[in-house]
Amino acid sequence: MRKRGSLFVISGPSGAGKSSLINEILKNFEDVYFSISTTTREKREGEVDGVNYYFVTKDEFENDIKKGLFLEWAEVHGNYYGTSLKPVFEALQEGKLVVFDIDVQGHESIRKKFDDITTSVFVTTPSISELKKRLQKRGTDSEETIQKRLKNAAEEMKRIGEFDFVLINDDFNRAKDFILSIAKASRLKFSKDDIQSLIWEWKES
Ligand code: 5GP
Repeated sequence: MRKRGSLFVISGPSGAGKSSLINEILKNFEDVYFSISTTTREKREGEVDGVNYYFVTKDEFENDIKKGLFLEWAEVHGNYYGTSLKPVFEALQEGKLVVFDIDVQGHESIRKKFDDITTSVFVTTPSISELKKRLQKRGTDSEETIQKRLKNAAEEMKRIGEFDFVLINDDFNRAKDFILSIAKASRLKFSKDDIQSLIWEWKES
């Protein structure tokens, strides 16, 4: 049977540890593709264009919206963020596990389009005060940006019921084990077409 593509959406407040968990998935899985988003926000220290994000201007982003290049896009904390359509479709066709670090709006769009092959996890901290501590410790954001992020996080928390799983990241090794298990199980999701071909092949062989 041909390899099946599946989608793995990870959302949650910035500072909850999504990037480190995603790195574990990239290290531990073959046939995995991380969807690099495009953004208009400023590059943080240590971030690399084309690795963490594609950093573009507002004009460039708006042009790409007009050209229909995004599978989904959203405004988060006053900046644009978007997922490019083409690489995701290519990775799916190659039967890969496509991993997304996107917000709750992006999750809603992906779910609407690809519900049957999507698995989603909302990663968060044990409390808002812990999130504040981690953002301050990271030291990459101004106090004003941190306040914006905390407010946004409280809004996002209201939508955790839309996710398949909620992972409280209070212990990294524990969270890592969970995310790897969920990612593994997500490979067993079948699209309706795949179910048909599985039944057909099962009968014929
Ligand atoms: P950060 O600025 O911390 O990198 O990201 C801010 C928020 O934007 C995070 O919640 C992140 O998941 C979300 N985000 C990043 N890329 C995308 C994207 O392509 N689409 C959507 N909808 N959200 C994104």
